[in-house]
Amino acid sequence: MAQPRILILGAPGAGKGTQSAKITEAFDVEHVTTGDALRANKDMDISEMDTEYDTPREYMDQGELVPDEVVNAIVDEALSQADGFVLDGYPRNLEQAEELEDMTDLDVVLYLDVGEEELVHRLTGRRMDPETGEIYHVEYNPPEDPDVEDRLEQRDDDTEETVKERLRVFRENTEPVIEYYEDEGVLERVNGEQAPDEVWEDVKATIEDVA
Ligand code: ADP
Ligand code: ADP
Repeated sequence: MAQPRILILGAPGAGKGTQSAKITEAFDVEHVTTGDALRANKDMDISEMDTEYDTPREYMDQGELVPDEVVNAIVDEALSQADGFVLDGYPRNLEQAEELEDMTDLDVVLYLDVGEEELVHRLTGRRMDPETGEIYHVEYNPPEDPDVEDRLEQRDDDTEETVKERLRVFRENTEPVIEYYEDEGVLERVNGEQAPDEVWEDVKATIEDVA
């Protein structure tokens, strides 16, 4: 069959980026992620649009959603160029879910289910390698190479205060998206609290089953 079109849903810190990296390798699809795309364009001038702030940065640093108009355009462009994909970080509200319906058909909708206490722990301990984009965790997944360890960075929004706001935004805006796919009968729930390799086994089996 053609390359699968996969949507991965989950709260901030659920492991979407970690699992998406494995998916892209195993299924030869593109990783389309609004978070990375926005981080690479944090100071993009969006003042032409009817938005409260002039750049994505203000929204992201406060843990708020960047306006739909900005994000929809990024995803539309990326999906139109991808054969198969794993879409990560979008849709985050019902309006975006409706937009997505008009952009593409999905083969699999995965949901990584993780409780809130674990999410806070994962987010505040998350570290990124600026050279490779690899995702680490100070406790759960530290790098072996001391050179890598030395250059690790924490995301601006992975502070305790912003994490709390992002989880609130998730409950308010994104949980309805999960219910929406559940009501459609297409949501594939995976226990995201397992160790990364166990989560991956379930994710892989689910994609192989459905796609
Ligand atoms: P996480 O990996 O913690 O889920 P992301 O990297 O996906 O976080 O997103 C970081 C920030 O980028 C969000 O808090 C939000 O400000 C912005 N963002 C990412 N995706 C979207 C989206 N689909 N709609 C609006 N804002 C988004
Ligand atoms: P998301 O993209 O959903 O925000 P990430 O993939 O960036 O989530 O993971 C958030 C943090 O949790 C990272 O520090 C990552 O190393 C760690 N992590 C990811 N999956 C697991 C897991 N199954 N168990 C423990 N820690 C994990």
